[in-house]
Amino acid sequence: MLRVRSASVRAGPGQRPGPPGDAKAGPRSYTGRVATVAELRDRLRRPLERELAEGCRDDVVVGGLERLLATVGRPFADLRGLLDGYEGWSPARREEAVRAALVLLDGADAADRAQVAGDAPPPGGPRGRNDADAGVVDRVAVTADGVDDLLETEIGERRIDLGAQAGRKLAEIGLRTYRDVLHHAPRRWEDRRALPGFAAAVGLDKATVVGTVVGRKLVPTRRGAGVLRVVLEDAFGERLTALWFHQPWVEKQVFPRQRLIVTGRVKRRGRSTEINVEGYEVDDEGPSLSTGRIVAVYPSTQGLAQAYLRRAVDRTLRALPPLPDTLPRRLRADLDLVDLDRAWRDVHQPPDEAGLQRALRRLKFDEFLLLELRVLLQRDLGVGRAFATSDDDAASFAAALPYALTSAQARALEEIRADLATPRQMARLLMGDVGSGKTVVAAGAAWTVVRGGAQAAVMAPTELLARQHLGSFTDLLWPLGVRVDLLVGGMGVRERAEARARLASGATDVVVGTHALIQEGVEFCDLGLAVVDEEHRFGVEQRRRLIRGAPDVLVMTATPIPRSLALTVYGDLDVSVLDELPPGRTAVATRLVRASQRPAVYRELWAELRHAGHQAYVVAPLVEDSEALDEVVSATTLFDDLRALLPAEARLGLVHGRLAPAEKEAVMQEFRDHRLDVLVATTVVEVGVDVPNATAMVVENAERFGLAQLHQLRGRVGRGDAPGRCVLVAGEASRSTMARLRVVERHTDGFLIAERDLELRGPGELRGTRQSGLPDLTFGDLAADVGVIEQAREVAQRMLTASPVLDAPWAAGLRAALRKREQAVGFRQTL
Ligand code: ADP
Ligand code: MG
Repeated sequence: MLRVRSASVRAGPGQRPGPPGDAKAGPRSYTGRVATVAELRDRLRRPLERELAEGCRDDVVVGGLERLLATVGRPFADLRGLLDGYEGWSPARREEAVRAALVLLDGADAADRAQVAGDAPPPGGPRGRNDADAGVVDRVAVTADGVDDLLETEIGERRIDLGAQAGRKLAEIGLRTYRDVLHHAPRRWEDRRALPGFAAAVGLDKATVVGTVVGRKLVPTRRGAGVLRVVLEDAFGERLTALWFHQPWVEKQVFPRQRLIVTGRVKRRGRSTEINVEGYEVDDEGPSLSTGRIVAVYPSTQGLAQAYLRRAVDRTLRALPPLPDTLPRRLRADLDLVDLDRAWRDVHQPPDEAGLQRALRRLKFDEFLLLELRVLLQRDLGVGRAFATSDDDAASFAAALPYALTSAQARALEEIRADLATPRQMARLLMGDVGSGKTVVAAGAAWTVVRGGAQAAVMAPTELLARQHLGSFTDLLWPLGVRVDLLVGGMGVRERAEARARLASGATDVVVGTHALIQEGVEFCDLGLAVVDEEHRFGVEQRRRLIRGAPDVLVMTATPIPRSLALTVYGDLDVSVLDELPPGRTAVATRLVRASQRPAVYRELWAELRHAGHQAYVVAPLVEDSEALDEVVSATTLFDDLRALLPAEARLGLVHGRLAPAEKEAVMQEFRDHRLDVLVATTVVEVGVDVPNATAMVVENAERFGLAQLHQLRGRVGRGDAPGRCVLVAGEASRSTMARLRVVERHTDGFLIAERDLELRGPGELRGTRQSGLPDLTFGDLAADVGVIEQAREVAQRMLTASPVLDAPWAAGLRAALRKREQAVGFRQTL
């Protein structure tokens, strides 16, 4: 639940891609207002021009031009050099110098316009504000249809007058139309309804207070530009000295009787109270947009003051006629959602906390609803085949198995059979921890399709896994008379040609293979089902090629995907979950240690391997795929390191992504044949390998891995009769790292771990989702809004049942919104 405090409130955990410059703005951007270089330049140009016009008598500026240069001109050393000694010169010499100075100013102007030395002063000079008298804005008269038109209008056209420069200024943060202004979502909100009195603010790390200027003084310091001391008085008559260090220009922007909002650290100093100003705003006369209310803080650049944005938004809101709602009234009432007009107004100018909450809930809901509609419309799958399934077939499959299916497996298989039985194309994700038994479920699906007279293809990411699958599928399906075949790149030319011929003629029922399956020239006789294992290794394009001819598709993954992602990023797939391990399998006992304990870890490991004759994996720190070279280095370094840590008799092997497939294959084979005791590996290799005698795993630099990934990794051990164990070595043992890794140490539920991973690291980091187009959310939060997402999904489904392509009159607004979001809403193309 979102709470507004006088500190800050965030809209979501930082996943919103702000407009350009947002990153720079930082958490303090909301108050600072210091002149930009461009602004200072402007303030120099005018007096120089006047000086020229008045005959260079050096009386335009009180105290002389040089005095002005010493303050405003500080950033312009060359200019000061040019006019150094001005006071003593003849008018002719002065004129020459002033002209040169103006040329210098103008020449640099264009180049420097974007360069900011600090935050911008308010528009219209230091006093500002008079241009934005809220009361003068009239609502623009338009018809209901016209609202949309108005929103699409460029700010520069001034149908709503946001000020002469607004078009250019707002474009700096990517706002071009009035819709952009309306949709410029606050980054957070500050409760300034009751700013603390000065006395109450003492000791607060960062306080925002408001007071009236009663005096100011620029105190010179030995070095730097001095300290500006401004005395403020609050409503209780208390006084506070606000301090600006080395920002002399602020003196020109702060005047007696002005109300200032200042933020910073408040300290008691002797008898007086001081605030070290980190940011400030000049409060305007009249009803204020910046105090006395919950105030929105926007993503912005340094050059664009918060007050300016607030004013632009305020004027827009005042001028805008009520926004038409995209949701039918009944639905809003059922779901207890406020109308869209209210929501947008309140999110910019919350009446109170509850109002803000309601506004956010509505905007989140809309965001997710559009996402779900998009996803569901997108997956409007082709017409597939209907494979009738008989109970007899199901029974004979079960009877031929060497074990009984777990109830999770049986349920998943039923879901798949139901999909296969409909004429719609199947697109299903089978999700289950390593060792949960996905293979047999896929075999059951293949069996159904083969019984229906078609072929099935099983695609694995590596040749090794393909061969492993060949074994499993043969074991499971051969007894039923199914002809299983292999097609991989490593086969000889003749062998491969023969396999292709069998596939094309229909002599093969189920083919297991790699990318070779989707290469040109591979013909199926009648492909009915495509199974894709460990899906994150395949690109969208590859999957597309596999499913030419629109077979049903089953994607298997061991990466637990949190429910919110399953409904959004993977929303185009139906999901079956294996949430149960086959009997006899126990969770892998996991221990978290610090790097200092490594010698003991490897001592114990070796003792176990020697006495029980088991084998172990040591996983090298993760390196991004793009840094393949580093991967080799880190794996190789670890390998050498282990040579020293383990006794000489230990037989070590090394595999990493840079080895040629044949070399990799050879090392893996050695490990499988138990000619190696310890295999040092990087993760990008061999997920999915099954070596039953491998019972232990050490993950080095475990902090470099995602939690879900660690969970998936440890599933590689304990696949035989003996239970598996895993040691996570934390290379960097900060408290937060240890707390994060403890989640894997303590929990065995892959989904719980994935949810925590999502919370802790954000969706962008989850393995397998990185390239898959995360939705671009403004208000929604994938980690926190599962409830809203589920509701949106349900409503979207209901809507599409009522109006499959959303062409009903009640859906007109949604259709329009969807079209507008076409680019903005990311979605994952699966098929
Ligand atoms: P994964 O989901 O990781 O692909 P597998 O399909 O490779 O898992 O299955 C892991 C192991 O569990 C295999 O050795 C398989 O034979 C075994 N297995 C699968 N289902 C069952 C079951 N219902 N009962 C007993 N063992 C099972
Ligand atoms: Mg598997």
